Amino acid sequence: MAHLHAWRVERFGAPLAPATLALPEPRGREVLLRVRHCGVCHSDLHLKEGFFELGNGRRFTLAERGMEPPLTLGHETVGEIVAAGEAASAEAPAGALRLVFPWIGCGACTLCRIGAENLCGKPRFLGIQCPGGYADHILVPDPRYLLPIDGFDPALAATWACSGVTAYGAVRKALPVLEGDQIAVIGAGGVGSAALALLRALAPEVPVIAVDVDPEKRRAALAVGAAASFDPKEGAPALARLAGGRLAAALDFVGAEATAQLATSALRKGGRYVVVGLYGGELRLPLPFVPMLSLSVIGSYVGTLDDMRSLLALASAGKLPAIPVSRRPLAEVNAALDDLRAGRVTGRIVLDATA
Ligand SMILES: [Zn+2]
Ligand SMILES: [Zn+2]
Repeated sequence: MAHLHAWRVERFGAPLAPATLALPEPRGREVLLRVRHCGVCHSDLHLKEGFFELGNGRRFTLAERGMEPPLTLGHETVGEIVAAGEAASAEAPAGALRLVFPWIGCGACTLCRIGAENLCGKPRFLGIQCPGGYADHILVPDPRYLLPIDGFDPALAATWACSGVTAYGAVRKALPVLEGDQIAVIGAGGVGSAALALLRALAPEVPVIAVDVDPEKRRAALAVGAAASFDPKEGAPALARLAGGRLAAALDFVGAEATAQLATSALRKGGRYVVVGLYGGELRLPLPFVPMLSLSVIGSYVGTLDDMRSLLALASAGKLPAIPVSRRPLAEVNAALDDLRAGRVTGRIVLDATA
């Protein structure tokens, strides 16, 4: 019998463990791919631990959501098609290299039918509810979730499935702004730098302020086109002043209490606070300010298949600068997660399942 080798969460809080499983045989519209690359995402740390911090010592656990180990994580996958079900073979040529769109819904509900599968109430996300790319093979339910990446470095392209599409989905919610407005990007790490690059590509006339506690990241943001950089220690009034009172949107890729406080206090009237990061905590906002300032608080979670296609089109047009990628063999997945937790990673770690 053919086998699939995966690194799985077998118990929340424990290191991932290797497992040998039966290799699934694709049926109907399913496609089986041999994993070439899989990016390591910050959210994998939460999925491995089994909870998110909600603030005030409260936690949201995956177990309450019916998610129990074993789980094969990994949602930034590029693979090579090895087999397809009888109804998919024409669209899934063996040997073709494809980026896997992982944010797959039930396919039947209204949100799925309008293309917002990332918001489906019965998600089948690959690497979260369904087995992902920390393995040598991955089963994808339909070839429509496989996107060609001809001409791109497959390790870099893998990061577009989460880091890239998340940045794109958030930027789409911040635009358009009015003439003279500015936008803040809070957290200039991997996803934040991608957002900065996308803002430069989609709205080059809008000045972007890069906000980060790390002077190194602030310098890097200026080098890739931020109009100004800002140390959050200076406080919200200083940020509002820096934007000339015209901060129309703040994209928060940290999602902590301090960044929420900074953003909501610095926005102009009618401003949009777009929360992306999952650091955790609670949003505290004096309620009268929400109507009086007409603030919008907008959550943004990954992106749609259409966002993914738009992002690939921008990449093809040369408008999506590469982020630094460090490659490691799949067997080093636990060390990679530890490095990510310790903040030792610039850009993205991408696991190579063929190494
Ligand atoms: Zn992710
Ligand atoms: Zn659905």
